[in-house]
Amino acid sequence: MIRPIRTDGDPILRAVSREVTPEELATPALQLLIDDLIATLKSTAGVGLAAPQVGESLRIVLVDKPLTVLVNPIVTPVTDTTDTSFEGCLSVPGMRGEVRRPQTVRVQALDRHGKAFDMVWTKFRAIVAQHEADHLDGILYTDRTTVMFTDDAAPPRREELRRDGTGADATTNTVTGKKKTIVVDSEKKVGGKQFVSFTFHERGRMTDVRITPGGAIVLGAWLSGVRLRQKGYKAGAAATMLVGEHGLHVARGDQLRLELQMPSGKRRLQAEADWDG
Ligand code: ZN
Repeated sequence: MIRPIRTDGDPILRAVSREVTPEELATPALQLLIDDLIATLKSTAGVGLAAPQVGESLRIVLVDKPLTVLVNPIVTPVTDTTDTSFEGCLSVPGMRGEVRRPQTVRVQALDRHGKAFDMVWTKFRAIVAQHEADHLDGILYTDRTTVMFTDDAAPPRREELRRDGTGADATTNTVTGKKKTIVVDSEKKVGGKQFVSFTFHERGRMTDVRITPGGAIVLGAWLSGVRLRQKGYKAGAAATMLVGEHGLHVARGDQLRLELQMPSGKRRLQAEADWDG
């Protein structure tokens, strides 16, 4: 049975889920729940799902490609190397955010029949496993991101970045002080953080952003939470930035000043394709 997916704001997404006992796992009710999780995931474009997302505060998650059921998973980073990807979440519809996570993890869990397994996952599956395991501790990826985009304005892919000469491997000198004023189209709260949305009127890219509410420069206010580092954007793209840290409040219609910097040195964009989990 396909179950409705709980969305941000539902307290179950913020609860710490409890472990499943082997006896409980063997019951028809728990096996049915796992079937429901699989049916629900398959009904979406997502690549992972956690039991709290369908309203069950139990430590069970799915990681797709290939489909794997993890019961009582323990996901432990085994490297300092990290990857970034533009994560999405079935419980935070319409949004994406860049998250940096360890590239390789050890995954210890039970399968749906109670058999223990212990594996090392890397890259995409490692990242999805971490996102899903976070759900069991009441953590959403919005807690870990500093930049979010609306789904229809996700950052350009690697190939697009290369085509316009500002690509992932381009080497350029830093150019500072290019300023741009944008107007806030809307504001909203996601995961308890304030985000503002605005539209770019020309194509470009930026590294650091200085935010200037009300047109008045906030001196020295290089806010760590408003960085669109190394990301290209297209004219007409609607970006959503995290603000509201450091006691700043930004409202619809406010003017923000963005200070743009071209990247310096050789950069690599490590992001994988967009995904939801
Ligand atoms: Zn999720």
